[in-house]
Amino acid sequence: MKNIEIHAELFVLGAGPGDPDLITMKGYKVLQEANVILYDNLANKELLAIARDDCEKIYVGKQPYGSYTPQETIHEMIKHYAFTKDKVVRLKGGDPFIFGRGFEEIMYARANGIKTHFIPGITSMQASGFEDIPLTHRLMSEGVWMITGTKKDGSLSADLRLAMQSNATVVIYMGMKQITTIAETYIQEQKGSTPAAIIQNASLPHQKSAIGLVKDLPNMALENQLTYPAIIIIGDVVSLHGQAMA
Ligand code: SAH
Repeated sequence: MKNIEIHAELFVLGAGPGDPDLITMKGYKVLQEANVILYDNLANKELLAIARDDCEKIYVGKQPYGSYTPQETIHEMIKHYAFTKDKVVRLKGGDPFIFGRGFEEIMYARANGIKTHFIPGITSMQASGFEDIPLTHRLMSEGVWMITGTKKDGSLSADLRLAMQSNATVVIYMGMKQITTIAETYIQEQKGSTPAAIIQNASLPHQKSAIGLVKDLPNMALENQLTYPAIIIIGDVVSLHGQAMA
């Protein structure tokens, strides 16, 4: 066995929303060079095939309804593998810095003398385009709010009430458990008729979606059996879905 020279490097890499072809060129190259890949639940497993056969591929996913690897354990693994195996890739769904805790891993690694690299990924809300929903529009939406439906304590972000006062498109990540509260919040403010969409498994062959009004979100999820992982998009731009004829 040849001895490898250890530089101890961490690459925090965005896998994109699902379709493996949506990874960046830089991400692809980094996967080819990896000695160890610590990958998440939402990162497409097909991406692991890009790595060498002798690269160790370790699942450290967190499932919203199931078992998970504690963040502290992931940190320890990053340290352990960076100093024993050299190039560690932390492969995370979407973009690592959008509701991803990738920054915490970078900070931890740096504090432990590991060289760090950040490689962005396409975040899942950008896959709205596959449903003909642009996130901004000159005449309809002047911006986008990305909001979490599940804060550290499990509750919905209070920022939703601020966001709904604006003309911006609102995108809720991790929102499926709070879908009834989301609909009620809009109804309370007389905004129940705002167009809304749910997209599950965006960019993947089994992508599913429902389009309707925000007040009907819970029913839309139920009738179409939409569950995690899904994004909720609220705003007039959703009404453009179906208007772009071939
Ligand atoms: N860093 C990720 C987000 C992680 S939080 C990103 O940038 O996309 C997890 C949430 O992301 C899920 O609850 C869901 O709201 C969203 N998500 C991730 N992948 C998705 C997909 N393929 N389709 C729809 N939503 C997705």
